[in-house]
Amino acid sequence: MKKNKICLVGGGSTFTPGIVKSIVERSEDLNLEEVVLYDIDEERQKKVSVIVEWILRKQLKSNVTLTVTTDAEQAFTGAKFIFAQMRVGGYKMREQDEKIPLSFGCVGQETCGAGGLAYGLRTIGPMIELIDQVEKYALADHWILNYSNPAAIVSEACRKIRPKARIINVCDMPIAIIDMIAGSLNITDTSEIKYDYFGLNHFGWFTSITYRDRDLLEEIKNYVNEHKILLPPQYIERLKENRATGDRHAVSSWIHVWESVYTMLQAFPDYLPNTYLTYYLLQKETVEHQNPDLTRANEVMNTREKALFEGVDKYLSTGEVDESSFHAGSHGDWISDLAVALLNDTKTRFLVITENKGAIPNMPYDAMVEVPAYVGKNGPEVIAQEPVPLFYQGLMMQQLNSEKLIVEAYIENSYEKALQSFSLNKTIPSINVARLVLEALIKENESYWPDLN
Ligand code: NAD
Repeated sequence: MKKNKICLVGGGSTFTPGIVKSIVERSEDLNLEEVVLYDIDEERQKKVSVIVEWILRKQLKSNVTLTVTTDAEQAFTGAKFIFAQMRVGGYKMREQDEKIPLSFGCVGQETCGAGGLAYGLRTIGPMIELIDQVEKYALADHWILNYSNPAAIVSEACRKIRPKARIINVCDMPIAIIDMIAGSLNITDTSEIKYDYFGLNHFGWFTSITYRDRDLLEEIKNYVNEHKILLPPQYIERLKENRATGDRHAVSSWIHVWESVYTMLQAFPDYLPNTYLTYYLLQKETVEHQNPDLTRANEVMNTREKALFEGVDKYLSTGEVDESSFHAGSHGDWISDLAVALLNDTKTRFLVITENKGAIPNMPYDAMVEVPAYVGKNGPEVIAQEPVPLFYQGLMMQQLNSEKLIVEAYIENSYEKALQSFSLNKTIPSINVARLVLEALIKENESYWPDLN
């Protein structure tokens, strides 16, 4: 059987070393021959590749070929899987996505609210270009596994502009939440945790969570009620003592988000909300809590990014490697397991972002929804859901239409549609504020966005 080539787009990502590790640990299941790192930033990717090379040769003793390139033809020719993790505009632009809305009293977030809409307008063009290049050079039965954010807007744009693309959009946040639940309830084997979920990306709810014969949804609600936060006890202890938890989802600004789960459950105890709903349901409290001078982009630049690049420098000068500087955790494992399921037709259950096509009966046919699916060689086979109760459906429709409008604004170069998208977003309180935030973001994104007339 022909061996496979897997390409990581955004090879210079801070997640790359951990994800390559997860891929190579599954070499046999993936019938793997070559890993390619592809990026538009040659210098950044080269640095990251130093650690990747160490992982392959020294840590895993693997003979999988590593190619590092900025040439699309070389990267994609003959590739079976393309893992897309690009951050268009880098952390510098993420900082603007967070700080500009905040300066007008609106939630400042990478993927939610005005920041997410701005990031979406930056990312659609490069994603479409990626799809076209992959179609030109990769194997005909390739799969693009995309987790570049903002995944909701990216997936809607792909559906509309390249409907035939062999792309599956996914997100690791529900998995990160399951990890926190497992940690809180003392469960070590997360592979036996089963869950149901409905929503849009970064905008959904768990409707059931079970482990063998245990009802974890009830158990976790009780736990959150008792602790007033959804974090494992050891994390709570470490945070009280001002010590790092070692988990990228349990640092500084994330704490407010895990506490918000308690507030949201107090109001609406039926389902467990995705943490990102904090930004839409507790928008005022989020703004009051956010530090306009130090947002999450600053936190990542000061921690994960710094640790990785300092780790590279240390390795180059001393030959020593600090493995904690490049851990990808369940994020990398999950993406790699998805590729295994597609290749080996395992029909394993994953959450995917997919065109609704009736899966949620009272959402539009063409909505990009996030629901469980069995994944095999033909892609996801979605599991049909019950109709969504009015409150949740109303929230989802508002968010969905805001996201659809920003994609239409991109396609039609329409300022009016962009303003409608901003005005409809639940994080923005009035059309006047929407206009101010939009104008400020247009200025900052001049070299990335299409002209909006
Ligand atoms: P990062 O800045 O560390 O890395 C991103 C890389 O993408 C950079 O090296 C950059 O040069 C490269 N890049 C930018 N535009 C590109 C293009 N057009 N073609 C090829 N490469 C390009 O960012 P990160 O923190 O690793 O995040 C990467 C992406 O993955 C972001 O969109 C982030 O939100 C997303 N992410 C998603 C999940 C998920 O589960 N959905 C989890 C983590 C990160």
